[in-house]
Amino acid sequence: MKKSFIVASRLFIGKGKQSMLSTIDDATLMKVATAMGEEEAVKLIEFIKTVDEITDDEIANNTEIRLNIVRRILYKLYDHSLVSLRRTRDPKTGWFIFHWKLQPTQLEGFILSQKRRVLEKLDVRLEYEKNHDFYCCDTPGCKRVPFEDAVELVFNCPTCGNPLSHCENGKFVENLSAKVEQLRKELGE
Ligand SMILES: [Zn+2]
Repeated sequence: MKKSFIVASRLFIGKGKQSMLSTIDDATLMKVATAMGEEEAVKLIEFIKTVDEITDDEIANNTEIRLNIVRRILYKLYDHSLVSLRRTRDPKTGWFIFHWKLQPTQLEGFILSQKRRVLEKLDVRLEYEKNHDFYCCDTPGCKRVPFEDAVELVFNCPTCGNPLSHCENGKFVENLSAKVEQLRKELGE
């Protein structure tokens, strides 16, 4: 059976609306973890999605991620409201204990805002590709240059010196447009 995020969302069934969460699979979850910019966020999320409320100590013990890294990742997730935090005081030591819990319903919003950001970037790129004519040489690894720059360079490649000729970007624009369309559809725009 395909491993999916359903495991974690089960904890929340009966607590309100059934969201599109049931369709969020591990790949998407991992994208979220990657967006955190922390290698070990994947491991951490993989673990906390299988439990209910848990302390940072327990996470560190169970995942073998160093406690300071566990805390750093948790605070990043907390910044995006992807985990909730409850604080209690240890009656013996008087120290605070932090109880963390994954907020799968927030993941939905996070993924949407990530998608929106990607869409904005792709849109800018698409406009740029549509509004420019590009010139290139035949040497692998050399970059294309827009027409304005090619004129300045008297149509010689700035890297290898070979002559520049017109470079077709129709296929690229087509692919880019398709991606933009797809994202718009997913975002309901
Ligand atoms: Zn070149």
